[in-house]
Amino acid sequence: MQEPTHILTGVIIQKSFGGIRPRGLALGLTATLAFLSHGFLDELARITFHPADPDFHSPFWVGYHAAVLMTSILFLFLWWKKYKWGIAFAALPDVDWIFIHGQGIFHIQIPFYRQPHLHDLLHLIYHRIPPFSWLTSIVNRLPNDRHNPWACLWEVLLVAMLLLTLRLMTMAERPSVRPAKLQVT
Ligand SMILES: [Zn+2]
Repeated sequence: MQEPTHILTGVIIQKSFGGIRPRGLALGLTATLAFLSHGFLDELARITFHPADPDFHSPFWVGYHAAVLMTSILFLFLWWKKYKWGIAFAALPDVDWIFIHGQGIFHIQIPFYRQPHLHDLLHLIYHRIPPFSWLTSIVNRLPNDRHNPWACLWEVLLVAMLLLTLRLMTMAERPSVRPAKLQVT
């Protein structure tokens, strides 16, 4: 999935464990679930526009990814300070691509980082270990639309749903009863 989806998922996960004490437990649960969420969302990416290789000749590809980049920056600006732990672990596996593409761009070689290790680990979890592998077998029944530009709308819809979830969580947190005003008698 694209980075805004991972960022938003990390925010929601950290927020949902916000009430758990001790704080170390909340952060541990957030880190584990946020990391695992990345694997699930990447499996789900098959139904969205997600070609494996960049296509700088396609105006749509360039425009879409520019919008994704702007949205990622906006989301980080909004939530990094408060939810950095969830965001960092939800996005962590994409460090793979920084290492791998970075080696190509800068013409350097890092012998131990020629493979996307974190994605390989998530792939192993989501393809071999129940109940994660059960989820994958359900997701794999969905159509593969990675090369269909219109399929980006699924990801836009998912982001909208995650934003709505976050909004509802924030509303639920607010005290429903306002402090009683001083009565003048
Ligand atoms: Zn990924």
